[in-house]
Amino acid sequence: MGLAIAYQLALEGCRPVLLEADDRLGGMAASFDFAGVAIERYYHFHCLSDTAFFQLLEELKLQPLLRWKQTAMGFFLDGRLYPWGSAGSVLKLRRLPLLARLRYLLHAARCLSLRDWRHLDGIPATTWLRTWLGRPGYEVLWAKLFAYKFYQYTDSLSAAWIWSRIRRIGRSRRWLKETLGYLEGGSEHWIEAIEARIRELGGEIRLSSPVGAIEHSDQGARISSPRGSEHFDAVISTVPLPLVAPMLRAGGQDPALIAAYETQLSVACACVVLQTRQPITANFWTNVNDSRFSIPGIIEMSNLRPITPHITYVPFYMPADHPDYSRPNDAFIADSIACLKAINPSLEDSDILASQCSRYRYAQPVCGTHFLDSLPPLNPIPNVWIADTTVYYPEDRGISESVGFGRNLARQVAAHLR
Ligand SMILES: Cc1cc2nc3c(=O)[nH]c(=O)nc-3n(C[C@H](O)[C@H](O)[C@H](O)COP(=O)(O)OP(=O)(O)OC[C@H]3O[C@@H](n4cnc5c(N)ncnc54)[C@H](O)[C@@H]3O)c2cc1C
Repeated sequence: MGLAIAYQLALEGCRPVLLEADDRLGGMAASFDFAGVAIERYYHFHCLSDTAFFQLLEELKLQPLLRWKQTAMGFFLDGRLYPWGSAGSVLKLRRLPLLARLRYLLHAARCLSLRDWRHLDGIPATTWLRTWLGRPGYEVLWAKLFAYKFYQYTDSLSAAWIWSRIRRIGRSRRWLKETLGYLEGGSEHWIEAIEARIRELGGEIRLSSPVGAIEHSDQGARISSPRGSEHFDAVISTVPLPLVAPMLRAGGQDPALIAAYETQLSVACACVVLQTRQPITANFWTNVNDSRFSIPGIIEMSNLRPITPHITYVPFYMPADHPDYSRPNDAFIADSIACLKAINPSLEDSDILASQCSRYRYAQPVCGTHFLDSLPPLNPIPNVWIADTTVYYPEDRGISESVGFGRNLARQVAAHLR
């Protein structure tokens, strides 16, 4: 979102300065060198509805590198791998009563036809799913996915948020077949291109530059970073909302305002990436419901984007204060390998070529019921705008949503400055 804002501001004739705390650009979409291959720390795919992202690719002349592929899904349920994701595969899942399978399909159809989500905003997602699917359907198909991602927050999520997630994937179909996208070269490709364009248009980018304080000043705002305190005509923050609280505190803001940022809930992610000699399954995405593993699913990136050797992501989501989050990376890697071996018993230790575990403290906001009412204002202080991935609720966090929202916000701020 920060890159999209800096790019749009530069297009509007402003001279943006982008301050990034990390040693690289991209945030959750940043890449690292994994045994000689540049891949994202966290898995990314694109859906057919990602129009703001396609528009950006077009402007960066990267549209020809966007690829689409029909992908398969699986469900690893109590030690057995089932096909999943199509109406036929749902109907064949005899592990569930026929009525539960039919209710699941009806609910999926309802998610696609529903347009006005406002009545879902006040309903807990788990209540909504239990009502549509019945208890057996919910317990088998959803309970573990929620429990291993949101833990104690499972029953607070809003139905509007889960609806928008189901709909995004459900709509990414061609001829009824799930079709997902990736960019040749991965996210690094568009991040490098937008960085070059921002600089070309006169913008400045500073890495390893954490902002420590934001405060209002006459005709603008001041921020402090390793270079000291600087004045700008306007400041736009795109860091996760809870991280804004200490910046406002250092800037001497009202405690009630600070609390509105501090109390936003998120779950963290320890995301394991494994390079293996062979695929685990033929699926891109395999949901996992197996009491041996606290893993909601595995994502075989190589079954979407042809990267060799085979790349699989295993995400462990949990609140950052959960005792398991302090486990060493090796423990998450060992659990991931055990899970992959359970799914594909032919996998041996000698097939694991490389492993890595990356962590993001604010990986997934917890969007509760009546979520919009809990969000602090976008422009809480004159000349200061504060946004993160929650601002486009009920849409879930996503590259396209962050790019689209960020560019619109930049247009408004540029108009305000004029
Ligand atoms: C596991 C996982 C899987 C995902 N899968 C997908 C997917 O398949 N498709 C998709 O579209 N999206 C996916 N996403 C989401 C996507 O990565 C994000 O929505 C997108 O990157 C949004 O970025 P953002 O800029 O809004 O926020 P962030 O990426 O959170 O960026 C915030 C930035 O602020 C920086 N920062 C923090 N503190 C400071 C400070 N004090 N000063 C300066 N800078 C600071 C951070 O370093 C970071 O670069 C996934 C995310 C995760 C974690």
